[in-house]
Amino acid sequence: MKYKSRNGGNDMINVTRSSMPPMEEYMKEIADIWDTCILTNMGDKHKKLQALLENYCGVAHVNLFTNGHLALENAIAAMKLPKSSEVITTPFTFASTTHAIVRNGLRPVFCDINPQDYTLDVSKIERLINRNTSAILPVHVYGNVCDVEAIESIARRYRLKVIYDAAHAFGVEYKGKGIASYGDISMFSFHATKVFNTIEGGAACCNDSELNQLLNDLKNFGIRGKESVEIVGGNAKMSEFQAAMGICNLRYFEDEIRKREKVFCRYIDRLGNVDGLKIPSVQENVKPNYAYFPIVFDKYRFTRDEIYAYLSEKGIMARKYFYPLTCDFECYKNHDMFSLTEVPIARKISKQVLTLPLYAGLDLNTVDDICDLILAR
Ligand SMILES: *Cc1c(COP(=O)(O)O)cnc(C)c1O
Repeated sequence: MKYKSRNGGNDMINVTRSSMPPMEEYMKEIADIWDTCILTNMGDKHKKLQALLENYCGVAHVNLFTNGHLALENAIAAMKLPKSSEVITTPFTFASTTHAIVRNGLRPVFCDINPQDYTLDVSKIERLINRNTSAILPVHVYGNVCDVEAIESIARRYRLKVIYDAAHAFGVEYKGKGIASYGDISMFSFHATKVFNTIEGGAACCNDSELNQLLNDLKNFGIRGKESVEIVGGNAKMSEFQAAMGICNLRYFEDEIRKREKVFCRYIDRLGNVDGLKIPSVQENVKPNYAYFPIVFDKYRFTRDEIYAYLSEKGIMARKYFYPLTCDFECYKNHDMFSLTEVPIARKISKQVLTLPLYAGLDLNTVDDICDLILAR
């Protein structure tokens, strides 16, 4: 068995594949844009998607952005944190999270993760708090829900803002509540590779209308009225074509989750109870979105890197997601942005973890092939 690149005949199996609505449906959705000739600037599609998502996510305001990263950067800006203050965050994440802090002129302070679900280890947060700490920026990594209650109580006690990077967690609920209702702001990514996509896209969600107004201003040059510009904003608006894609994809989202669940469960059936393999589990009180299947090789017969190389030789493109840790990036070498704290669990997991291919259209026979390759080694 070998999966090949497209021009080699068969298709290579990538770690993810974008979900597309039926083409006719998208064509129908964008047809009115030719009548209005309104391509962007919060037109009808933007308004419609926003209303649909506010309803779906159970949060007062879903503010749409042209991508998740700019939603996060602007969400941080909207918190008006003191210049150069410290933000406690995780290094076990995508580049975007740490960059968004640094690009706001703030200092990331890295807290370790827990070895169960790889989110922030809440027992290690308080020791990192000092007079310069202004916020906590946790990540619902792989769609796993952070200990939102502990984080909220720490934030209250020390008067810190909480911004969640929920890029992986669209559709997730905790204790019957949409994940976006936690923290001061939660950010989603609707990038093509995420569980729900608007091609490129993202959102900053909150329950406070004043804060939402500020997010509006930040993404639209601070322009309030025809002749009034109130703040120094940038441009991060979602276009009508992106919003139309979201409107169509949202119709299929629950179906998407059910298909992902089948793939997820097949991996669990095949890879559960194998010595040296740690597989994900669904958290208590959580409605999951089956976004990723991270597998940790801990004292398995082969290392993560050996399995990664073996799979890619066979045309299976798993990903070392997340390796390296963001604090180890080249761009942060010799910088004075942060002093490194110890993050031993994050370091260990990032050397052992591999996310396996997982998307709605992934054939269960292919899942079996992937598992056979891992287990036969
Ligand atoms: C994808 C992602 C982002 C950035 O979102 P984009 O829509 O790609 O800009 C931020 N944080 C995490 C954890 C992500 O995976």
